[in-house]
Amino acid sequence: MKNRLRILMVASEMVPFAKAGGLADVLGALPIELKKFGHDVRVIIPKYSSVNDRIHSVELFKRFVGVPLGNEEEWCAIYRTHIREDVPVYFVDHNWFYLREGIYHDNYMNDYQDNPRRFGFLSKVALQFCKEISFKPDVIHVHDWPTAVIPAFLKTLLSDDPDLAGSASLLTAHNLMHQGIYPRDNFPLLDLEWRYFHDDVFKSYDSINLLKGGIYFADLVNTVSPGYAKTVLDPVDSTGLAPYLAQKGYNFVGVLNGVDYDVWSPEKDTFIPAQYSMQDRRGKVICKRDLQKTFLLDQDEQIALIGVIGRFVPQKGFHLLAQVIQKIVTDMHIQFVILGTGDNDLENYFMSLPATFPARVGYHLGFNDELAHLIEAGSDFFLMPSLFEPCGLNQIYSLRYGTLPIVRATGGLDDTIINYDELTGEGTGFKFFDASAQALYYTVGWAISTYYDRPAHLEQMIQQAMAQDFSWQKSAQDYNRLYQVAILNHRNWMLGNRI
Ligand code: ADP
Repeated sequence: MKNRLRILMVASEMVPFAKAGGLADVLGALPIELKKFGHDVRVIIPKYSSVNDRIHSVELFKRFVGVPLGNEEEWCAIYRTHIREDVPVYFVDHNWFYLREGIYHDNYMNDYQDNPRRFGFLSKVALQFCKEISFKPDVIHVHDWPTAVIPAFLKTLLSDDPDLAGSASLLTAHNLMHQGIYPRDNFPLLDLEWRYFHDDVFKSYDSINLLKGGIYFADLVNTVSPGYAKTVLDPVDSTGLAPYLAQKGYNFVGVLNGVDYDVWSPEKDTFIPAQYSMQDRRGKVICKRDLQKTFLLDQDEQIALIGVIGRFVPQKGFHLLAQVIQKIVTDMHIQFVILGTGDNDLENYFMSLPATFPARVGYHLGFNDELAHLIEAGSDFFLMPSLFEPCGLNQIYSLRYGTLPIVRATGGLDDTIINYDELTGEGTGFKFFDASAQALYYTVGWAISTYYDRPAHLEQMIQQAMAQDFSWQKSAQDYNRLYQVAILNHRNWMLGNRI
């Protein structure tokens, strides 16, 4: 097996150029780590309005690249920059497709109805561009539904292509609830035969399902934690993809994301008022006081403080918190700081709490990176009651900040947090299993009683939490192995097991 691979990543998001969620963070970090193994890694994303030629040192690379899309032909230019480790990033420049308010939808959350065309184009151009610069990837790593059609192109339209027939594909599904489901009349523009508009491949009811087709064709599929991989294989799971993932057998796996400790660690954090480390946590007390001051809470370093950050969408389970937060604050000696935005009812509800519980509950409406860092550093506990969680980042950040996570045991939350053992004092957080407000209430109670009644255990847990390592280095090694498996699978497919 070759040690130095040619790897092409094609995606719809990438930090620092365009971000809607965790996918962008993965693209911003993984290629750089892979390059350190000696691989030739290149990335292709759309040139959105958030890509700034001057700030991101972007320059024109190729003036005309064209591909057929159904009965039409679309053309673009390709721009280029380099990120750390000299990884080239290519941008597909097509004003009509990509110079819009959002990546997937407008400011009113209306999905762009031509998304299959926009991302079908990205997928086709990525492959055509490889041919034009004579780059023959050993593996093409695609992400989520926007580029999931690439494995299908490779095994159908390009199955005899002299340049690309040998390219294996890995599909990473960052959240299997997002499947790219669009009306069936979009199917012809992908130029795939109608026989693939089938329940096992691209068809869901009467629509096309881009992720499902990608799962069928990819040489290997993974999601972003082993726990979430198990969740979505459960036939009752709400993604509805369990049977199709099960068909992949060993070729569907879970690999945990890493986190960027240059940005998210109390030793290096530039947003917080005092830095601290596992050996010397005096700075954490300063952060706690600053957090209490910022959210107009009593400045009391003894009281237990719980932090909450997140998007108010059903996945995150904040409605469970809303059901019991008043009872928690009434029954327990505790403070809450909450940062989030999303569902209007939840926003209004959390907004009403500081007036009901002055100096005990603080809420900030909106997305605020600086406050997110302060909450991680200044809180004693961090609450994530998610109904499902593909990986989750905040609980991993919390560990490094010595802020013990209280989580529902699902997906990546279950994988990354070790439950407290009251006999030994071991553990890195507190878990509950039932997706109920009651379970949340009692688990918060468990954490708070540990805080006040078992300080030696709390100290032991903080030390254990801060020592955890979820750096990208480890995850990149896992992806390295996945690439080798994808290449082997592809070779076998080439040897005769063609679809
Ligand atoms: P998801 O990608 O599903 O939103 P993750 O836990 O994987 O959940 O990542 C969320 C990231 O977004 C974290 O870095 C978190 O701090 C950040 N975040 C979410 N909501 C906010 C907010 N209101 N303000 C600041 N940062 C936020």
